[in-house]
Amino acid sequence: MRIARFTTGDEPQYGVVTGDVDDLGIPADDTVLVGLAGDPLYVGVQLTDTEVPLSDVRLLAPVLPRSKVVGIGRNYAAHAAEMGGDVPTEPLMFLKPNTSVVGPGDPVFYPRQSHELHYEGELAVVIGRICRDVAPERVADVVYGYTVGNDVTARDLQRGDVQFTRAKGFDSFCPLGPWIETDLDTSDLRVTTHLNGDVVQDGRTKDMVFDVATLVSYVSSVMTLLPGDVILTGTPEGVGPMQVGDEVEVTVAGIGSLTNKVVSRD
Ligand code: MG
Repeated sequence: MRIARFTTGDEPQYGVVTGDVDDLGIPADDTVLVGLAGDPLYVGVQLTDTEVPLSDVRLLAPVLPRSKVVGIGRNYAAHAAEMGGDVPTEPLMFLKPNTSVVGPGDPVFYPRQSHELHYEGELAVVIGRICRDVAPERVADVVYGYTVGNDVTARDLQRGDVQFTRAKGFDSFCPLGPWIETDLDTSDLRVTTHLNGDVVQDGRTKDMVFDVATLVSYVSSVMTLLPGDVILTGTPEGVGPMQVGDEVEVTVAGIGSLTNKVVSRD
């Protein structure tokens, strides 16, 4: 099931995306959204009799993390190598504030403080239940679903700061979308990033150093996870700069594509 959050100009609402998608998760032209009563994370999937063509809505970030977005650094060996670092022996965690989350089509603002803004296309895990100390074999019980993320990073600030908070934490640095896929085998999904139509990242989740179950279990051994929390699972190799005016599209096969444009802060 694919669950989107959208607006037709009024209050944001949730809906189930109907119809078939192709191998890249791209929906057919006649796809409709069936409206839901309330937030399905909290009240379950309660279908209404409202149907809206997907082409008539503006999609929003499919989840608003109430507490946190957890990032994972250097979780693909080839990316660790391009960053000049070793593969971590344990998952390398950092936090992005929930205020960094934006949705499909929203602008990514180029901060005045940076001169090197990078895309990082990633598979994102959405937590569905409050949990702590989850064993890897129980992780499926606490995962609500998966979406696509772009872990936007001010690389120059990341190099200069000891902590990642500033480099990863600006408003608009966590695009999420287009929707949440609740049924997905994440063991070998293609993750691609296009910059202005050119392929710049092309990886597979089977090359993760730590898989989804290991990551969720590990993070939950450090901090309680709440419904709506998001874990970004790391980026494949091929990270690189974006300029004002660039369009960046991240695709995770089986979920869909997330497109955002870089806009000047001024
Ligand atoms: Mg990342």
